[in-house]
Amino acid sequence: MHRTDFYERLEGTLEGIRDDGLWKHEHELTSPQSGEISLADAGTHINLCANNYLGLADDPSVIAAAKDAMDRLGHGMASVRFICGTTEDHRLLENDIADYLGTDAAITFAACFDANAAVFEPLLGADDAIVSDSLNHASIIDGVRLSKARRYRFATRDMTDLRTQLEVARAEGDGAILIVTDGVFSMDGYLADLGAICELADEFDALVMVDDCHATGLIGPGGRGTPTHFDVVDRVDIVTSTLGKALGGAMGGFVAARQPIVDLLRQRGRPYLFSNALSPAHVGGAREAIRIASASDDRRDRLMRHAERFRSAMTAAGFELTGAGHPIVPVMFGDATVAVSMAERLLEFGVYVTPFSFPVVPHGQARIRTQMSAALTDEHLDTAISAFMQAADDLGIDRANAASSAEPTKSGNGGAR
Ligand SMILES: *Cc1c(COP(=O)(O)O)cnc(C)c1O
Repeated sequence: MHRTDFYERLEGTLEGIRDDGLWKHEHELTSPQSGEISLADAGTHINLCANNYLGLADDPSVIAAAKDAMDRLGHGMASVRFICGTTEDHRLLENDIADYLGTDAAITFAACFDANAAVFEPLLGADDAIVSDSLNHASIIDGVRLSKARRYRFATRDMTDLRTQLEVARAEGDGAILIVTDGVFSMDGYLADLGAICELADEFDALVMVDDCHATGLIGPGGRGTPTHFDVVDRVDIVTSTLGKALGGAMGGFVAARQPIVDLLRQRGRPYLFSNALSPAHVGGAREAIRIASASDDRRDRLMRHAERFRSAMTAAGFELTGAGHPIVPVMFGDATVAVSMAERLLEFGVYVTPFSFPVVPHGQARIRTQMSAALTDEHLDTAISAFMQAADDLGIDRANAASSAEPTKSGNGGAR
């Protein structure tokens, strides 16, 4: 193929994305991430879209801690960890993470995407097996692909199918078996049934890994995640999670696990060995965010109250929702164009939401995924709820039947953030 043909092919692909109405636009913010945000082209909006669950993204003491670390240690580490990129603060952050989640140890990465890319390949060989929920995050799917282990997939949150897949995995080899699940399925707002997963893991003598990105900081006692929520902290072998959501929303990911797992990842994890250390500001901000999160029942209470208030008012208004027990509240519209028109209308009303359609969610299950935040007020929610009702009326949407084709997601390709 000629170079020119290559570029023509790219143009064709891009045109196809536009023609399918799947082009993703990026709104520019001119304010910090918070309950209200300013959009460069559209002014101030109530923000129902961020992973800023505890409202720490613009928290003054988190910012001060980040600045302090930057003042002491500079802007960047300009090195991977083992060459000359480790400060005392890096070690202390890893200790803080392990203490917070109740694991032996923790190791940080540039992002949870990297943590998931790092974790499988060094730990599992060709004799081993990975049994993965079908809706797991894209980074888990990619990480699993990098390992030589045999792969099995179970229908999302379907414990009967998990048992079947474990039986097949056991029958087809005698290596280690690792069950992998998201702690929270972010497109649907459901928690994994980690209690049941751990029981099956016991029965099949399997390891358990949970990606708790949408749970760390907000779910379970002290916000310590789904393992504490289901009281299985000691049974879960590996937790991966992010510093980019509830814990300040900046950047960074980690694996929290038993000591030998963390030790081996430090020696062999490729995204750890071949990528830069977290910047001092990220480390300092994250440490303060963890300190606040561990002591912030008030923020979590407000967050969960918001979720209940929004859920019950939207249900009463006739909208079809999915999910339960989590501040992700997806509003189902079925048809992608309906979800897009609703989002545009809501934007005009000063409510910032993003529609999700194929391939992020299955065909015919388009939705507006709202996310609550402790940075929102009751007034924000009431305004948003009225805006949803008005927008649906303006567009002639029959709320109760808009999503008649919509059911909890059964397939997908590992959703967005
Ligand atoms: C957001 C998310 C990630 C990626 O986290 P980053 O730190 O932003 O790379 C991984 N897994 C899940 C389940 C997520 O929701």
